[in-house]
Amino acid sequence: MSKTKSSESVKVVVRCRPMNEKEQAAKYERVISVDVKLGQIIVRNPRESSGNELPKVFTFDAVYDWNSKQIDLYDETFRPLVDSVLLGFNGTIFAYGQTGTGKTYTMEGVRNDLEKRGVIPNSFEHIFTHISRSQNQQYLVRASYLEIYQEEIRDLLSQDQLRRLELRERPDTGVYVKDLSSFVTKSVKEIEHVMNVGNKNRSVGATNMNEHSSRSHAIFVITVECSELGVDGENHIRVGKLNLVDLAGSERQTKTGAQGERLKEATKINLSLSALGNVISALVDGRSSHIPYRDSKLTRLLQDSLGGNARTVMVANIGPASYNVEETLTTLRYSNRAK
Ligand code: ADP
Ligand code: MG
Repeated sequence: MSKTKSSESVKVVVRCRPMNEKEQAAKYERVISVDVKLGQIIVRNPRESSGNELPKVFTFDAVYDWNSKQIDLYDETFRPLVDSVLLGFNGTIFAYGQTGTGKTYTMEGVRNDLEKRGVIPNSFEHIFTHISRSQNQQYLVRASYLEIYQEEIRDLLSQDQLRRLELRERPDTGVYVKDLSSFVTKSVKEIEHVMNVGNKNRSVGATNMNEHSSRSHAIFVITVECSELGVDGENHIRVGKLNLVDLAGSERQTKTGAQGERLKEATKINLSLSALGNVISALVDGRSSHIPYRDSKLTRLLQDSLGGNARTVMVANIGPASYNVEETLTTLRYSNRAK
């Protein structure tokens, strides 16, 4: 793969959320500036007491500030990727970042609020509008929804939420999740229903949903199959797959005192996020002949949708306030390396 090609196929963008009410009330200082024209995030570190420390500048494919609209992110950053899925390519959208920075806001958005709906519902609308306008193609849309928690895979659409699924590999189709359910959906309503069922199951067994979602990766998969009668009189089938991934929180999980199960869990969460970082930076670099997909369940599972002809967008989410500047810098360094 040539360097230009791979760097075009992987885009990293950063989104900074607004100050929330608590932060406003506490009058936290804003340490982030966003230069949309230059694609830059500028971080002032308030803890550097000398006063002559220069701000840190990071450049990305695009940056979005606290005023950014869901639909603008969709149109500029996500829509081209979903268009390529409709043409039969694979694509993956990741939301990365510390818990509370807007990953779920970016992926799902706010329920029943058209302006605030995230990339998942926007992609439903996009896909089914495209299908309704097509004339000579027949489409089949299927949805799956799974979760990776502590390197274990759970089918969020299965009746049996206690069952764990295995990754398998076949020479012809590559890596797949054995027995993962998938539902044919014929409308936005139907696929929304599938998403809602999965979201309900996600919280099953979680004593603290916030904590659970900060420690697990949720992957919504839409497969779009298109068949079309070619000029040769034969039916041609194209299949594109869209993976929509709300990643586990990137905050350092190994806080002092973590022991036993907690420590084991923390290690595994860090493992899949660092494996993902390694895969993306190897793809962006373009010179690596070895892409370390096998290092985690997440990267193995997404192997056919990362690199090659597939497109990837990573949205790194950050907060604006001074008190988490360290985590923000960690996120920016991770994402910058991914680019
Ligand atoms: P995460 O999934 O990364 O833990 P959330 O998406 O749950 O974070 O966001 C935390 C809070 O901040 C939520 O109340 C969410 O609605 C709000 N929020 C996040 N990003 C934005 C944004 N860009 N604009 C407005 N509110 C946001
Ligand atoms: Mg979340």
